[in-house]
Amino acid sequence: MFSAETPSALIGLSVALALAACAIWLAKMHWRALSEAKVARQQAERMADRLFEAQEAVERQRELLERNGDLILRHARDGTITFANQAAASLFGKTPEALEGQSLPTDVQAGAAGDAFRERFDTRIGEGPDERWISWIDLPVRDRSGTIVEHCLFGRDMTERHRAEANSEAKSRFLATVSHEIRTPLNGVLGMAGLLADTPLQPEQANYVKAIRTSGEALLSLIDEILDFSRIEAGRDDGEIAPFDLRALAEGVVELLAPKAQGKDIEITLMIEAATPRWFVGDSAKLRQLLLNLAGNAVKFTDTGGVRLLIGSDGGGLLIRVSDTGPGIPHHQRELIFGEFEQASSANGSVKKEGSGLGLAITRRIAEHLGGAVSLEKTSAKGSTFLLRLPFLPSDSHPESAATPDLTGETVLVVSSGPYEGDALAAQIETFGAVAIRVKSPASALAEMTRHRVDRLIIDAGLGADDAIRLAEVARRTGVRHRLVMLSPYERRKFEAEGHGDFDDYLIKPVRQASLMARLYRIPAVSIDKPQAFAPAPRVLPAGFSVLLAEDNEINALLATRLVEKLGGTVTHLRDGAQALEAAQDALEGRRPGFDAALFDIRMPGLDGRSAIRRLRALEARSNARRLPAAALTANAFAEDKAASLEAGFDAFISKPLKPNDLSAFLEQIAMTRQDAA
Ligand code: ADP
Repeated sequence: MFSAETPSALIGLSVALALAACAIWLAKMHWRALSEAKVARQQAERMADRLFEAQEAVERQRELLERNGDLILRHARDGTITFANQAAASLFGKTPEALEGQSLPTDVQAGAAGDAFRERFDTRIGEGPDERWISWIDLPVRDRSGTIVEHCLFGRDMTERHRAEANSEAKSRFLATVSHEIRTPLNGVLGMAGLLADTPLQPEQANYVKAIRTSGEALLSLIDEILDFSRIEAGRDDGEIAPFDLRALAEGVVELLAPKAQGKDIEITLMIEAATPRWFVGDSAKLRQLLLNLAGNAVKFTDTGGVRLLIGSDGGGLLIRVSDTGPGIPHHQRELIFGEFEQASSANGSVKKEGSGLGLAITRRIAEHLGGAVSLEKTSAKGSTFLLRLPFLPSDSHPESAATPDLTGETVLVVSSGPYEGDALAAQIETFGAVAIRVKSPASALAEMTRHRVDRLIIDAGLGADDAIRLAEVARRTGVRHRLVMLSPYERRKFEAEGHGDFDDYLIKPVRQASLMARLYRIPAVSIDKPQAFAPAPRVLPAGFSVLLAEDNEINALLATRLVEKLGGTVTHLRDGAQALEAAQDALEGRRPGFDAALFDIRMPGLDGRSAIRRLRALEARSNARRLPAAALTANAFAEDKAASLEAGFDAFISKPLKPNDLSAFLEQIAMTRQDAA
C-alpha cells in the first residue's frame, strides 16, 4: 500500500500544512493589528475632539470671567495669588501671569486676612484721581473634606457710585446750610412784619405789611420745598412709623387750608368714608405733607366751588382723593406736572399762580418712598381729582370709639349751595341713623319742608345771610326742632353782630366731626345767647413768669421777647450760650431770681444751644436742683435735629419762624404744671 516515497510525501504534506497554518496565523495577527490600529486611531480622534471641546469651554469660561468686568482674585491661605483675571490684574497695573505667585496687595489684604475673612468688604485702592473704590465678596474654596484651601475674591468697581453718593451728600449739606442762612434773616422779616401788623396801622400800611408777610411766607415755603426735594433725592429718610389718628390729621390739614379757601370764597371739605378705621400705622408727618401739597394746590388753582378730601381704605391701605372744581389740567400735561419745576398752563388758558413747580414732583417721590403712588385720576374743565394710595394699615392697638349720636327715625335737611360740604355733612349725618336730605337752594329747602316732616335743619350761611335767616324763621314756625347754621369764621362775626335769629347754634366751617356730634347731642334745650362761650380762652402766664432767652440774632430775640411779653411773661435776653449758662447758674445758686423756663437758640457763637443745655443739666444734677424746662429754637426743623436736641437735654423743640401758638403752648404747659404741683 505504501510506496517507498510515502514518508517523504508525508513530511512534505506536514510542512505544507504547517506553513499554511503559519500563514493563516500571520494573516489573523495582521488583521487584528490592523483593526486595533483602526480602533486606536478612532480613539485618538475622539480624544482630540474632546480636548478641543475642553479647550473651547475653558476659553469660553475665561472670556466670561474677563468680559463681565468684575475682578477675580484667587489666593491661597497664606495670601499667595493663584489666579487673577485680566480686570483684577489691570487694577494693579500688571498682567495676570505677573500677579500669580505674588502676595495679595496690602489694600486687599486689609479686608481678606487668612481665615479671619469678612464675607463682604470695601477697599479704596490708589489715591487722588486714580482712586478706585472696590466692593469685594470673599468666598472660601473647600476641599472634599470641607477644609478651606483657598479663597476666591470677586470685586466690583463702585467708584462712580461712591462719587455720586459723595456729591449728593455734599449737595444736600450745601443746600441745608444755604437754606439755614436764608431762613435766619427771613424769619426776622416775617417776625417783624407780624409785630408790625399788631400795631395801629393805616389801611394802606396794613396792606403793605400783609404783602411783606405773604411774600416772605412764599419764599420760606420755596426754601422748604427745595430742601425737601434734595433730601428725598439724597435718599435720606427721617420718617417715624407710628399709629396716628387719621381723622384728626386730615381735619388738621383741612383747617390749616381753610382760611385761604374761605378768603377766596371757596369750600374746603373733608369726607371720610363710613367704614374707614380711625387709627392707622405709618409715617403721619409725610402723609400730612402729601395732603397739604395736594389740597394746597387744589385751593391755589380753584377760584369757584371748592375742594374736597375724600378718604377711604381697602385691603391694600389708604385711598385718598383730592378733588376740586378748578380749571383742570390739559390732557397732554397730565404726566408732565409730576416733573421737576413743571407748571401746566390751565385748560382755559388762565394766568399762572405762584409756585415753584416742585410740589407734585416732591409729592410723587414721597408717595413712592412710602411704597404708594400718586396720580391724576381725572381732570376736565370742571375740575381735577388726584388719587393717592398708601400702604398704611389700620392699627389694631386702638379701639374705635363707638359713641355717636343716635338720630334713628329723624329727618335732617341740609341746605348748601357749594359742591362738597353739604354732601359731606349729609353722609356724616346718615352714619348717625338719620335720613339726610341735601338741597342746594332755599327754594328747594322750602319745598322739602312742606313735603316732609323735618326734625333738624342745617343751613350753610354761604347761601347768603338773608336767605339763611329767613329759612330758619320758616323752619321754626313749621316746627323744625333744631336749627343750625354753618359759618366761616368771617361770617361768624357778622352773625354775632346781627343776632342769631331763629338759629339754635352754629357750626364753624370746615365742620369737625366732634363739633357736629356735640351740637347734635345738645338738642336745643336753651338757645345760645352767650357768644363769648365760643371765643378762645385767653392765654396768659402767671405774673412774674420769667423766661431766660439765649439768642444771638437781635431780630429773633426781639420777636421772642415781644411774644413772651404778650403772654404776660418777662424775658432775660442774653446773646450767647455761655452768658445764658452763667445766668442759669447764678439763679441755681441763689445769686439772682430763678427762671421758670428757658429758650435757647441752637446756633450761637461760642457755646451753642446744645452744649449750653448739656452743661446746665449737668449743673442741675450735681446740685440736685429742679430741672429748668427748656426749649430749643431752630430753623432746622428735621427729625434728626429734634432728636439731637432732646438727647442733649431740651424738653421741647420750637421751630423758627416762631409762631405765637407754639411758644404759648410750651410756656402755658409749664405754667399749668407748676400750678398743679403747687
Ligand atoms: P406749583 O408749585 O406750581 O404748584 P406743582 O408741582 O405743585 O407746582 O404743580 C405743577 C403744576 O400742576 C402747577 O403749576 C399747575 O399748573 C398744575 N396743577 C397742580 N395741581 C393742580 C390742580 N389741582 N388744578 C389745576 N392745576 C394743577
